Amino acid sequence: MRLILIGPPGSGKGTQAQLLAARQQLCAIGMGDLLREAVRQGTPAGQQAAPYVQRGELVPDRLVNQLFAEHFHRHPACAHRFVLEGYPRTRAQAEALEQLLDAEHLRLDAVVQLVVPDEDIVQRLSGRRICPQCHASYHLMYHPPRVPGRCDQCGAALLQRADDREEIVRQRLRIYHQTYGELLRYYQERGLLVPVPGQGEIEAVYQRLLQAVQALAGRRGDG
Ligand code: AMP
Repeated sequence: MRLILIGPPGSGKGTQAQLLAARQQLCAIGMGDLLREAVRQGTPAGQQAAPYVQRGELVPDRLVNQLFAEHFHRHPACAHRFVLEGYPRTRAQAEALEQLLDAEHLRLDAVVQLVVPDEDIVQRLSGRRICPQCHASYHLMYHPPRVPGRCDQCGAALLQRADDREEIVRQRLRIYHQTYGELLRYYQERGLLVPVPGQGEIEAVYQRLLQAVQALAGRRGDG
């Protein structure tokens, strides 16, 4: 299964990608995680990306395409079973991904659009805490860790992302609405887009998502 998850910041892309990875044996690849790791390590790409990430703006396509291609080629076992979240975010990135996959004779199975209203997003993100070590994601109210402030999976101290502050969240939402129409159309034209309501319990969203992907696979198989 090769999937992309699209949705506004805080729509649950990362959480659903982790669930898909664990239960469907997929490689979860998060562009935000790749970028934060590059920034943390101070690589040349990380140094160039840092100011964009801090401002909540999109990192230039050239840089994220290069980071993704490097990651993709370093993990050949993931080429057949992956779920991407946070990439692609623009049409230019979608085209670069298509070229990369074409070169390996690989096709996407579905592009899931997680639909969550803006009002819910700001509330969700202010309570979000992430694990800097294993990238697990928590929420103070909806999905608290068993031990406050500690990751259930690896025990590391949880952090609030600097770009989850309200004014940066609003900026990220503005950019989402400006750029995603084109991206959604791109995948709609290819018959790959499945909208899934992203509100409610994590498990309920997961079941909805899986059913939507399976239904699309069935329709594509018939056609
Ligand atoms: P995320 O963790 O997906 O919310 O991403 C955090 C930040 O990383 C975003 O606000 C952008 O600054 C940057 N970023 C992540 N993915 C991309 C992408 N595909 N293209 C450009 N910038 C990105």
